[in-house]
Amino acid sequence: MITGVAVLGSTGSIGCSTLQVLARQRDRFRVVALTAHSNAELLEHQAKVWKPVFVGLVNGGNGAKGTGKGKESLIEAATHPDVKIVVNGIVGAAGLEATLAALRAGKRVALANKETLVMAGDLVRQAAREGGGEVVPVDSEHSAVLQCITGRRPAEVSRLILTASGGPFRTWEASRAATATVAEALQHPTWKMGKKITVDSATLVNKALEVIEAHFLFDLPFEAVDVVVHPQSVVHAFVEFVDGSVLAQVGFPTMELPILYALTHPARVADSGTRRFDPIIAGALTFESLNPDVFRAYALGRAAGVTGGTAPAAFNAANEVAVARFLEGKITFGRIAEVIAAVLDRWDAVPAASLATVLAADAEARRLAEEAACS
Ligand code: NAD
Ligand code: MG
Repeated sequence: MITGVAVLGSTGSIGCSTLQVLARQRDRFRVVALTAHSNAELLEHQAKVWKPVFVGLVNGGNGAKGTGKGKESLIEAATHPDVKIVVNGIVGAAGLEATLAALRAGKRVALANKETLVMAGDLVRQAAREGGGEVVPVDSEHSAVLQCITGRRPAEVSRLILTASGGPFRTWEASRAATATVAEALQHPTWKMGKKITVDSATLVNKALEVIEAHFLFDLPFEAVDVVVHPQSVVHAFVEFVDGSVLAQVGFPTMELPILYALTHPARVADSGTRRFDPIIAGALTFESLNPDVFRAYALGRAAGVTGGTAPAAFNAANEVAVARFLEGKITFGRIAEVIAAVLDRWDAVPAASLATVLAADAEARRLAEEAACS
């Protein structure tokens, strides 16, 4: 049987990698829906190649083609009756509602859009329970964890260690990193990704988002989710079991492997497309602790995760605003952590009990972050 797939954010880095994977798996999967924000040209090209039944362009502009427009087109794609798996490759808070709708409609969500879980982890789990959907992570560290624990009982897992490349400023003094340019922040040493997550990897906000993501995905307390810096990005995560044994998943950095696994989990299927691992070529693998002076934003995000309620949503929204202003050249790199701190300092977390509460927290944190970025 051929499985129908919707690719949300098909024009982005994850979206394009997903289509590359699907091009090698045409006997298993069919692209039913594609959506993008505003890159009408690339979306139109992808639609010609893949002939999906539904195409959605959120920000259509003048004369743009597409069978769906606006934010609603994400929900339409995510809940389309012919779709079994929704690959969510949208960046940021914009991916939340489509994830919830897909889960309520009983779909598997192959989730790259980690912001969704950070903002509303409990609501995501509730939607999956109610609708019979499931979240399968695309993020490489979480895919690594899932690959290590599949077939095991949750009670056997004692600790996760997520790896972080350390980004381009791993070896920089904090004072030098504070004035790093946009071009310097966009030079990721091991992964090629969209701009926002590349900046998040330079501040290590990405790793804080991933700790929160792991907490919700694997139902583990924050004390059981550690992070280690591993500049080669070959080991994607370690899982420690209650008997002290540790499993790791390794491979050269590519998102195609975790994307394929999210589509086929718990099964594995043959794929000739990715570079095979060679330990001799990988060479020495090194591990370091994270320097909290350089990576203040990581500590802020982790603390927001521990606080819980609407604090992670506020952290995420503040970061999205700060990164956008940094990319526009309006604030320095060092100010990203300051903007986040200013928002969280004033934040009174309440339970993230409904979508309305989460969206209100997101809007309020954005307002506070804009204020902090201007001051
Ligand atoms: P990207 O910027 O390359 O692509 C983002 C995609 O989202 C685009 O297709 C864009 O059209 C769409 N989009 C943006 N704003 C939107 C909106 N308001 N409404 C609807 N669609 C919108 O980003 P990316 O690197 O592909 O990352 C996507 C997500 O995957 C992020 O959450 C990121 O953290 C996560 N992720 C990415 C990687 C990677 O290797 N790129 C790895 C792990 C996780
Ligand atoms: Mg990751």
